Amino acid sequence: MKPFAYVRARTVEEATSAHGGRAGARYLAGGTNLVDLMKLGVEQPDLLVDVGRLPLDDVQETGDGGLRIGAAVRGSDLAAHPLVRARFPAVSRSLLAGASGQLRNTATLGGNLLQRTRCPYFPDLSKPCNKRSPGSGCGARDGVHRDHAVLGHSAHCIATHPSDVAVALAACDADVELRGPGGTARSVPAADLHRLPGDHPERDTVIEPGELVTGVLLPAAVAGRASAFRKVRDRASYAFALASAAAVLDLDEHGTVRHVALAFGGLAHQPWRARRAEAALLGAAPTADAVDRALAEELAAAEPLRDNAYKPALARRLGAAVLADLAGHRP
Ligand code: SF4
Repeated sequence: MKPFAYVRARTVEEATSAHGGRAGARYLAGGTNLVDLMKLGVEQPDLLVDVGRLPLDDVQETGDGGLRIGAAVRGSDLAAHPLVRARFPAVSRSLLAGASGQLRNTATLGGNLLQRTRCPYFPDLSKPCNKRSPGSGCGARDGVHRDHAVLGHSAHCIATHPSDVAVALAACDADVELRGPGGTARSVPAADLHRLPGDHPERDTVIEPGELVTGVLLPAAVAGRASAFRKVRDRASYAFALASAAAVLDLDEHGTVRHVALAFGGLAHQPWRARRAEAALLGAAPTADAVDRALAEELAAAEPLRDNAYKPALARRLGAAVLADLAGHRP
């Protein structure tokens, strides 16, 4: 293993200053993804800045009914938190659907959002991969790609993002809070945190060098609304999503849609907000037919590959099931 320096930060300022945006520096929290990638030689940092013990490990009410979640809150704690379960059930369900109990006890919210793709070519140094080694090619495009993207992919990368909670946060209109070297602070909508691969699949997110995820803001406007998350995977016990769907639905007194947000996982390089389907459903009664038409419109943009042509139909059924749960009827 390549030698590296290690710093345990006591404050956010200490962490961002130690990192400084240098190419060889990495933030370390739970380590459940980064350390594996270091063992494989995919990640070779010269400095680890440990942010796992920063005072970012609590869930606070914002005063208006929203929640601010520290980036260092562990997955198990967040899934079980009574305010999260009561106000944002999709977030809790998505966490429980991800990883194993042991991993959830260690992995943090910030690390969950920033975990790397599970494309099997990415950690395999013997294979081409534009995400790991820009310009080397994409082994998956003509290789093993049953689990890969059907929306928003590029000639350079067809990987999906593996985080389940990112999908729920996108549907809940959450914001991700970032602090950078020099004290810069900004927030990014959770739905826009991850990028599509385009010409630069090596960049998973819009985060700038040295920026640290410090927390996630779950908005008051969504608190207490009906929300749900479902995931389809090869093994019920522990597997990444073939497809997942998170939704928030609010109906008016006539049973028509006042607010709907739907996000898919397992279909793209980012949580896929189904904006076309949402627009089609707004102001309509969420009948099985209306939902199916809206989802068909959304998924018409899908460009499946040789071995993942099952995904658009799977996502259509999954989206319909989640919205039917929330509307109180069966699809
Ligand atoms: Fe690499 Fe992306 Fe191709 Fe997978 S899909 S081999 S991550 S470039």
